[in-house]
Amino acid sequence: MDSSSGAGGEAPMSTTTTSAPSAGGGESTPPPSRYESQKRRDWNTFQQYLRNHKPPLTLARCSGAHVIEFLKYLDQFGKTKVHVTGCPYFGQPNPPAPCACPLKQAWGSLDALIGRLRAAYEENGGRPESNPFGAKAVRIYLREVRESQAKARGIPYEKKKRKRASSGAVTTGGGGGEGSSRGGGGDGGEITVPLN
Ligand SMILES: [Zn+2]
Repeated sequence: MDSSSGAGGEAPMSTTTTSAPSAGGGESTPPPSRYESQKRRDWNTFQQYLRNHKPPLTLARCSGAHVIEFLKYLDQFGKTKVHVTGCPYFGQPNPPAPCACPLKQAWGSLDALIGRLRAAYEENGGRPESNPFGAKAVRIYLREVRESQAKARGIPYEKKKRKRASSGAVTTGGGGGEGSSRGGGGDGGEITVPLN
């Protein structure tokens, strides 16, 4: 049998994914999905951020620039090592030893976060045309983060390949290993911000 759908074939397929929001009739409210509860948490985090903002900032006045400021603020809680250009491990996905480079939020986490906040904003009565999370500046900022992290970490974010590359047993034991990011690509993890 020939399977012509393998690698190399250029079949321009238009995949239309219309996710119907399960319109059940008179059912009782389903339990919130993981995405939903995460979205709620993110939204609360952002509200908290606004409350603590100096000078005071309301949601109505929030712009794309403030969203970017928020993303930068989150970096202090990050767990992803991003090498500075002067670091000998710049561009190495698996550095042999720890270095003093800062930890930041992985691009994938920020990207997913913005997506959730963008939805939450509109669910909470915000208008789509004034959605600060959908601002062009935010999109540009995220792209810059992606590109700089891809360079610094040696991970091509464009391709999400799932290959166990070359050297088999790379186990970062103790020390300041990063650990969590598997394979390659934007690990769209959750961002945990300690609220107080
Ligand atoms: Zn480094």
